[in-house]
Amino acid sequence: MSGKFNVLFLAPEVAPFAKTGGLADVAGSLPDALRRQGVDASICLPLYRTVKEGGFRLTRMIAGLEVPLGAGKLACTIWSGETSQGTPVYFIEREDLYDRPNLYRNPAGDYYDNFERFTFFSRAVLHFAQHAGIRIDVIHCHDWQTGLVPVYLKTLFRGEPFFLNTTSVFTIHNIGYQGLFPPEKLRLSGIPYSEFHPEGLEYWGQVSLLKAGIVYSDVITTVSPRYGKEIQTAEMGLGMEGILRKRSDSLYGILNGADYSQWDPAVDPHLPVRYSAEELKGKKECKTLLISEMGMNERMADKPLLGFISRLSGQKGCDLLLRVAHRVIEDGAGLAVLGAGEEHYEKAVAKLAEDHPGRIGVRIGFDEPLAHRIMAGSDILLVPSQYEPCGLTQLYALRYGTIPVVRATGGLADTITPFDQATREGNGFRFESFEPESFFSAIRQALSLYRKVRIWRQLAVSGMKADFSWDRSAESYLEIYRGLLTWDH
Ligand code: ADP
Repeated sequence: MSGKFNVLFLAPEVAPFAKTGGLADVAGSLPDALRRQGVDASICLPLYRTVKEGGFRLTRMIAGLEVPLGAGKLACTIWSGETSQGTPVYFIEREDLYDRPNLYRNPAGDYYDNFERFTFFSRAVLHFAQHAGIRIDVIHCHDWQTGLVPVYLKTLFRGEPFFLNTTSVFTIHNIGYQGLFPPEKLRLSGIPYSEFHPEGLEYWGQVSLLKAGIVYSDVITTVSPRYGKEIQTAEMGLGMEGILRKRSDSLYGILNGADYSQWDPAVDPHLPVRYSAEELKGKKECKTLLISEMGMNERMADKPLLGFISRLSGQKGCDLLLRVAHRVIEDGAGLAVLGAGEEHYEKAVAKLAEDHPGRIGVRIGFDEPLAHRIMAGSDILLVPSQYEPCGLTQLYALRYGTIPVVRATGGLADTITPFDQATREGNGFRFESFEPESFFSAIRQALSLYRKVRIWRQLAVSGMKADFSWDRSAESYLEIYRGLLTWDH
């Protein structure tokens, strides 16, 4: 690479500061991986309550930065901190917008002012960069919450000399979250109404901030090659397929990586006992302790234990899980579930534990340490997603010697290949059709192999040795950034 260039990551969640799902893992790890490759990467996110309460060391950088919203201006404070690997992180503080119990919603639904919250964030970042003189070659935006940034660069900020050489990348982590708002809201962003049309940021009479990111960014990426193709089809594009097909020359599918500084049983601080591919003994102990932590019967330590760690939503295949759970139990296996999300799924999943006390353990809520312990203590991880842009849990499972059973979709299909007893190739079990029967039959295959102790162990160990780290993916992003820098715009 000739000379360092600057990439500013803009994400609505970044681990370990604020997390509801995989996007946070990506936004917390990819910038570190890019820095290892010589990129001057930094990160920006809102200063949520979880950041305030997380005990992170932050320094106040700018106070009273005024940012337009609607007809007025709101002041915000900028704080700086860093990731554990030393990547600078900037936080936009505005208490009335971000100091709330959750990131996007409360139990009654999405926060009513999400448009205002993320429009303000998007615009504040640009004002902040300009004010602080932080040169940006590439602004890398993630998901709908940051979709207005590429629009700003092509409209309100177009003539600004400071942003003359700034290009934008927009990454789609999930096409199902489209950031839809009534058109009247657009006024608050300052973006001219002339951009509200079907080739711009209109989506069937509404403003879509996801579409805004797709249409106005210089390059679009998504988080696996297969998902990149799927979202261009009518079945899986959820209405965005047309606009994505139009931009297919600028659309790239790059697989997410696993951050092994956070997810590796040899160093994981959340585990009661550490283990590795060379020394697997500790895994059995993790299982015994997990069974007790989940309130399950200690006899279950001798049975196969299935884990499920997920947002509880239709996308994640909760319906399939609910349909097969009792059959799994009839087959003698145990089930450990950790999840939070839609209320009706939370109730239904909690009832599983009531219906099968001792055999199914359930924890409703978001619990990072427990997620690690279930990853380590389970023999099999279930990921029966209806669609899955990349999926990280199956990658973590491999590293923990936990065999994934996944639906063959998106990134799950790109990373998990069916195990073949004859050739000993493959790293897990897959099913195609989104039906309980297919799911159960894949689970059965896994349970039957589990009894062949030696082969099972070989499968676990080879999964643990596989490398899904960020470095290769970071190189692909680097290539995209390089392409943009030589771009005549
Ligand atoms: P998605 O981003 O669609 O939720 P991913 O598989 O990409 O799915 O990432 C999920 C991440 O969120 C993983 O790090 C997983 O461990 C974590 N996770 C999901 N649900 C929970 C939960 N209830 N408690 C703790 N961590 C969770």
